Amino acid sequence: MLNTCPSCGLYRADKIIDAAGPDAICPECGHRHLFLRLPLLVVSGASGTGKSAVCQCLLGKLTEVVALDSDILWRPEFESPGARAPSFCETWLRVAKNVGQSGRPVLLFGSAVGVPDNVERCVERRYFADIHYLALVCSDDVLAGRLRARPKWRNSHSPEYVSRHLAFNQWFKTRSRDLTPAIEFLDTTSCPISSTAPKLAAWIRDRS
Ligand SMILES: [Zn+2]
Repeated sequence: MLNTCPSCGLYRADKIIDAAGPDAICPECGHRHLFLRLPLLVVSGASGTGKSAVCQCLLGKLTEVVALDSDILWRPEFESPGARAPSFCETWLRVAKNVGQSGRPVLLFGSAVGVPDNVERCVERRYFADIHYLALVCSDDVLAGRLRARPKWRNSHSPEYVSRHLAFNQWFKTRSRDLTPAIEFLDTTSCPISSTAPKLAAWIRDRS
């Protein structure tokens, strides 16, 4: 929607942003138009930290944002070498930008979208004000127990899968505050979903 210029008709994702409007300016013909430059909220964390459960718990209860699970657009093609399709994060920023033009920021749940290095370099990043990152974390023992307790069809009980997500969980706990922008985190080790959800809702309301 926003990437096609209404004046010259060319498709350009890399419009020039004039923050004063904010306006998006076509690099081809100079046509400028207003758009809503909203924040984007990202809730991440390793598999097993409670993202899906909290997302389910908040659906229909938060009217300030449009909550979406990034898994709904996942396709194996995003991982294939030399793929010509826009990257997974680029696609999600495009979706969130377009959803936001109706007036509400997007609250996005997912793992890949929670790593600032994956997101901040995207062409579509320019259409957002701040991007706020929060990661759910928990202790290694609790995380491994949750992954091994999942149904077999989810393939999350293998030693390789558990090990990968323990490392991802540790990465959030040890590196997240050194990143720019920093990732805040919420520890779900001894927190039932009924307690995590209100804390997350408060974080969302403060930033949307
Ligand atoms: Zn143009």
